[in-house]
Amino acid sequence: MNRLPRKMSQLLLVLAFFVVALPASAKLNAFACEPEWAELVREIGGDKYRVFSATNAFQNPHFIEARPSLIAKVRRADLLVCSGAELEIGWLPLLLRQSANPNIQTDKPGYFMAAMQVSRLEIPQHLDRSHGDIHADGNPHVHLDPLRLISIAKKLSQRMAAIDPDNSAYYSLRFKLFRRQLNKQLNQLAPLIAQLEGQKVVVYHKSWSYLLDWLDMTAVADLEPVPGVAPSSSYLVKLLKQIRQQKPAFIMVAAYQDQKAAKWLAKKSGLPLVVLPYTIGGNDSSNNLVELFADTLEQMVQQGLN
Ligand SMILES: [Zn+2]
Ligand SMILES: [Zn+2]
Repeated sequence: MNRLPRKMSQLLLVLAFFVVALPASAKLNAFACEPEWAELVREIGGDKYRVFSATNAFQNPHFIEARPSLIAKVRRADLLVCSGAELEIGWLPLLLRQSANPNIQTDKPGYFMAAMQVSRLEIPQHLDRSHGDIHADGNPHVHLDPLRLISIAKKLSQRMAAIDPDNSAYYSLRFKLFRRQLNKQLNQLAPLIAQLEGQKVVVYHKSWSYLLDWLDMTAVADLEPVPGVAPSSSYLVKLLKQIRQQKPAFIMVAAYQDQKAAKWLAKKSGLPLVVLPYTIGGNDSSNNLVELFADTLEQMVQQGLN
């Protein structure tokens, strides 16, 4: 009567160890700077990674405070996935330095900058900071071009395999599944892509350059007079005149951006204002990267073109 429960409890203890301790300790830690990269780590890394995102869809990734809680997360990271190309230049170098984590310093396999894996748009001919927040490596906001995203996903799967060679087949398989899912979604979106092709739009910041490039669309005006600078009321009046001549189809802004100026311009010009998720979690229907593309294109067509 006495021995059996004791043996049982020993057995339970052993089981608990395997259930709780083993899978948890086997997981690698990823630190992502933006939600789109956290999601890509989930897609490719599956249950091998525990993922933390430094920002959410309602924060401006250019301006983040390098707080102690973030330093602690970077300290534990096996893999760091950020946009790079200077997007996080105001906060990431400090996090790296303060974390003193050798695995994710700039020359290590654990340091993965997404934008640097693909060709970039808007690389300046010469650096003149008076033109605003200009980046020497070009536009860092690469994730909304699905072709570049697939290249980045492949490079990420290779990087994960280098860090964790035992699971290289797993990462490669998950990359192929992701590519298949995304391509299937893009095929379904073909009618919307055709409607958007050639359209002119007003943007807010260079957040949309890759999406527009992929869709063969043109930004004829930007709510920012120069990158990183909010519009003044005199600039908005000038913009309104410009818009009346160029006749764009709609104004597009990201969920995280201040919409006051965009709303004013929409009201004055009569153009539809399309508020897009921009990244994972920017609205209720953008919970993964495949959904993000579907929702973005559906909203651009339904709210922008009708
Ligand atoms: Zn910048
Ligand atoms: Zn930017």
